[in-house]
Amino acid sequence: MNATSKIEPITEPAVPSRERTAAALKAAILEKLTYFVGKDPGHATEKDWSTALALAVRDYVVERWFEATRATYDGQKKRVYYLSMEFLIGRLLKDAIANIGLEEAVAGACEELGLNLEAHLQQESDAALGNGGLGRLAACFMDSMSTLGVPAHGYGIRYEHGLFRQRFHDGWQVEEPEDWLVSGHVWEFERAEVAYPIKFGGHISFDGHGRTFWHAEETVNAVAYDTPIPGWKGRHVNTLRLWASKPVEVLDLGRFNHGDYVSAAEKTIRAETISRVLYPDDTTPEGKELRLKQEYFFTSASLQDILRRFLAKNDDIRDLPNHIAIQMNDTHPAIAVAELMRILADEHRLTFPDAFDITRHCLHYTNHTLMPEALERWNTGLFRKVLPRHMQIIEWIDYHHLAEVQGRNLPINLDAIRIIEWGNEIKMGSLAFVGSRRVNGVSALHTELMKQTVFKDFHTLYPDRIVNQTNGITPRRWLYECNPGLRALLLESIGDKWVDNLELIDEASQFATDAAFREKFAAAKRANKIRLAKEIETRIGLKVDPSALFDIQIKRIHEYKRQLLNLLETIALYQAIRRTPGAEWTPRVKVFAGKAAPGYHMAKLIIKLANDIAKVINADPIVGDRLKVAVLPNYNVSLAEVIIPAADLSEQISTAGMEASGTGNMKLALNGALTIGTLDGANVEIAERVGPDNIYIFGLTADDVAGIRQHGYNPVATIDSDPTLKAVIDAMVSGTFSVDDSHRFHGVADRLWHTDWFLVTADFQSYFQAQRAVDVDYRDTDRWTERSILNTTKVGWFSSDRTIRGYAKDVWNVEPKF
Ligand SMILES: *Cc1c(COP(=O)(O)O)cnc(C)c1O
Repeated sequence: MNATSKIEPITEPAVPSRERTAAALKAAILEKLTYFVGKDPGHATEKDWSTALALAVRDYVVERWFEATRATYDGQKKRVYYLSMEFLIGRLLKDAIANIGLEEAVAGACEELGLNLEAHLQQESDAALGNGGLGRLAACFMDSMSTLGVPAHGYGIRYEHGLFRQRFHDGWQVEEPEDWLVSGHVWEFERAEVAYPIKFGGHISFDGHGRTFWHAEETVNAVAYDTPIPGWKGRHVNTLRLWASKPVEVLDLGRFNHGDYVSAAEKTIRAETISRVLYPDDTTPEGKELRLKQEYFFTSASLQDILRRFLAKNDDIRDLPNHIAIQMNDTHPAIAVAELMRILADEHRLTFPDAFDITRHCLHYTNHTLMPEALERWNTGLFRKVLPRHMQIIEWIDYHHLAEVQGRNLPINLDAIRIIEWGNEIKMGSLAFVGSRRVNGVSALHTELMKQTVFKDFHTLYPDRIVNQTNGITPRRWLYECNPGLRALLLESIGDKWVDNLELIDEASQFATDAAFREKFAAAKRANKIRLAKEIETRIGLKVDPSALFDIQIKRIHEYKRQLLNLLETIALYQAIRRTPGAEWTPRVKVFAGKAAPGYHMAKLIIKLANDIAKVINADPIVGDRLKVAVLPNYNVSLAEVIIPAADLSEQISTAGMEASGTGNMKLALNGALTIGTLDGANVEIAERVGPDNIYIFGLTADDVAGIRQHGYNPVATIDSDPTLKAVIDAMVSGTFSVDDSHRFHGVADRLWHTDWFLVTADFQSYFQAQRAVDVDYRDTDRWTERSILNTTKVGWFSSDRTIRGYAKDVWNVEPKF
């Protein structure tokens, strides 16, 4: 059956639109090839065809984009502005084709032109303008805001180099620069006329009549680049506006004319440095001046742009909160609190109290982590040097905020609510909290812990400010587009209404026990596993059996995510297989993928350990296909799209209380993987929805973890009393996996023996037992398929459409159009 035949037709726009036929697409592709790329079909390269194809599709998106922009201007709607240092959008062509409803037309056109569509889709570079979950969340939210018709702009940085490309050399991570812009990016439109000056450094003066002036030492321009983001069925298209930094004057002609070419270009180079690279970690603070400049750069440009748009239609600046809602994705844009106040007070001549009042009604803040080492802080000396006026404003906020509180006689610790700590560090989380109307956590557990820990005193002060908005994922990219087999089965059985109302996918639950449906579901999974097996062979030359259990852990490498726990279990399983190879084993393929921050030595050592373990196990003839370990390099959105649909088991095994939400957990469950996980982040809510029979929960709870840490954990007793664990660690330190250097992993073992902050040893036995239950259960194929189906059908609530409806209602106070 045809995959798209059940899709409802798209309502036509008011202006005559392009035809969605193969013939129209074919003509458009040929036109682009000729008049834009400048080639005739006989001489065009594959790359030329890819460009022509993308440009042809782009016109359909642009047409919808103008419609949406006109409608929003006419409707005078409240607008949402999503400020994020990262947008991990991945490739856009396939997404545009699906959202605009062009799949049949494009497939037909490609067939007539003899083009391999799949190969052309792969040609596009993966826009990796983010590290991991935080950036991908921003991308899913953009998709959902367009789908729901919430008029919104995403604002971020157009990094010339996105997240580094990861390669393995002898099993060690090697970072290579990422170059997504080298051959052009067809989805962006440069808006050279939309440019704002961004100032740094210098000093402040007062004119004695209440006016303040900032005499900057350095100024750069922020230039806008726009990418249209179409929602489902092209009903609405929002804009992702990314800022590139450019010099105010292109070339110092005076110097150039004197023959001093190098220093004449110096200013250009310095100015462009600001948007040059993405900092490669989202869980450690980066105390670097350039990072502070990046944060201010994109926040200031975005606020200037927001106010320009507002003032074009309104003349009372005090009306601002009725027309805009700004969301700060983590504290990276938290300087917005001081920047908005600066603009309102210094440029629009409002008093500080009035400016503060307006600011607090426009801004909202999403917290993403409770780890103290990951909460942003800036040294006041550095801050004053880079942003002297903002330092004064933050001092004012800190003082007035405390004064407000002191009068209220509340049972709180005043030191805990200071923004400037010990007079020398600015706590950006506190600044964001104080300057926001709403503050949200990203899962029920995380929001609860936020209230009890980092923001305890703030919560006592402002009991209505903290709300929860559990994260979500877009079902367009993470099921409809990446899982063609499952998509077709769902379209055939329940139609397409689930695509933009994912909770309706529950209608397919009735088929979990239907033999014919099960068979088709299992066939789709198998096809996805064959696709992944091919990808594994191409990428790392390892052959794996698609009928084995595919056990997947894909995410940034971090100690709290505990890839190490999975690796220890892998060793234990390996040892058990070698002891009794003739026993009944459930063949497994363990897949790992993820990047480590370049400066995070332990994480990089864990990658080396994974590769070393893989090398030994994969070459062991006694083990054979009973266990294979595939460590795939360069995890990104495109690789996720191939791995996730093929997963049988989803590893979500962070130390409880440390993963704020996770979204990988949702993508995998939606694609039918059963989760093995701790009661952490959104796993808790996933477990509630799929039910205890369809998930493997193990290990310590967040309360247990807090209790153990309070009393001080001693791993020695645990290790000594567990012979399985002891044998695993012994193998690791004796060089079983590192014959060339038996000391290589002593540092890893030392951490386990001494502090084991992430409680890997404490959870080992419970995890090992849960894995053995998985082994047994997987052999009952029908029952496993039934539970896999129920994972897909019961997690519809985790659509980012639901999350955005929550923000619209509880945070932004806007009404989605659809
Ligand atoms: C979803 C996603 C993540 C987040 O994964 P978690 O398991 O939630 O940490 C990271 N990177 C990419 C490429 C993703 O698609």
